[in-house]
Amino acid sequence: MFGPPGAGKGTQSDNLVKDFKLLKISTGDLLRKEIKDNTSLGIKIKAIIDQGILAPDEIINGLIEKLLSKKNYINRLIFDGYPRNLDQAKNLDYLMEKHNQKISYVLSLNVDENIITRRILGRMVCSKCGLNFNKFFNPSTNKNHQCEQKFLQVRSDDNNKTLKNRFATYKKERKPILDYYKNQNLLYEIDGMKGIPVIYKEICHIINPIEA
Ligand code: AMP
Repeated sequence: MFGPPGAGKGTQSDNLVKDFKLLKISTGDLLRKEIKDNTSLGIKIKAIIDQGILAPDEIINGLIEKLLSKKNYINRLIFDGYPRNLDQAKNLDYLMEKHNQKISYVLSLNVDENIITRRILGRMVCSKCGLNFNKFFNPSTNKNHQCEQKFLQVRSDDNNKTLKNRFATYKKERKPILDYYKNQNLLYEIDGMKGIPVIYKEICHIINPIEA
């Protein structure tokens, strides 16, 4: 799942995980867990995340490889926020081959910068279950969320200043990655500015043959 910050990668991945019994690998979540657990890695990367720049590739690639050999999820992984640059994309190909798996689809959610800002500044993440909500567009309710409201938190990098860097990084890395996957006929570009259910329907339409 590829796209700028606030494109809805996490939200759409969570939907897919639920309906298709996949395992989501979100590199952002993995890094935030390291920070929360106060590990030596977490201490090292906190400042990087708060600046809105990319963490070093060796760290990311190391985190990813640990998860690729999970037996129940062979070819059932969904990557959210990875790869973020061409070297990571090449490394993912290497790891996939090493673990006898293959990439079936690359879904790129396209969203304008002005919409992203509202999405990011309204984002609330449940610290208990990990689900993403948005206080403007997709608030947490009794219907869509089991946990108490007190668990909802704002991410430390969801602010105007960090967002500018995050978006600039995305813009710089976007084209090489998309060209790389386009050349392999794996790329599907999706209008990420529509509503969550409409986007999800479009995604299901793309990936459904795999389930048939
Ligand atoms: P995310 O939760 O995907 O928005 O990621 C939050 C932050 O974690 C990013 O702004 C980066 O600092 C870092 N990060 C997440 N995924 C990656 C990645 N694949 N490569 C490098 N840094 C990453």
